[in-house]
Amino acid sequence: MEQLKVIQGDITKFQCDAIVNAANTTLMGGGGVDGAIHRAAGPALYTACEKFHGCPTGEARITRGFNLPARYIIHTPGPIWRGGHSGEPQLLANSYHNSLQLADRYGCQTVAFPSISTGVYAYPLEQAAAIAVQTIEKFMLEARNVREVTMVCFDAKTFQAYQDRVEYRFP
Ligand code: ADP
Repeated sequence: MEQLKVIQGDITKFQCDAIVNAANTTLMGGGGVDGAIHRAAGPALYTACEKFHGCPTGEARITRGFNLPARYIIHTPGPIWRGGHSGEPQLLANSYHNSLQLADRYGCQTVAFPSISTGVYAYPLEQAAAIAVQTIEKFMLEARNVREVTMVCFDAKTFQAYQDRVEYRFP
């Protein structure tokens, strides 16, 4: 499938219309990819995020990209893994779906995601990759503007998990 790509790299350096931030519900920055995005985008991102007064898990909010190469940043808090019986799969799917819907509404053609919830939030990697790939592929069938989605994986293990999942679905 041409329209879903998997690469290893740093999402803050990725050139596309919108990058997605694996945020927390305060939207006020944090560690991991969230911290990296805030550092790279500059302090104006913090000011922009303040205006939202937070965001519920699985929903998404959009800001400009500020100093990033990407035009927009879409902020979505993924679920914290609590064993899998607290609605985590649906919430993770919502994060991908709502981010894509927002990107599509803003006319974005190219969108990049980090591996939402598989860092500090401890979502099991293989399960998260399955949900991400399934949700993205389903959305692409109804997208009006989005034509290419890239999973930007920071480390080799994450890259391998998403790569395996895409190949599993489209050998
Ligand atoms: P969460 O709280 O949703 O688990 P984390 O930021 O802790 O979010 O981790 C999510 C994923 O983002 C992890 O795979 C982590 O390695 C990755 N990550 C960290 N920094 C970057 C970056 N600059 N670009 C892309 N991915 C990153």
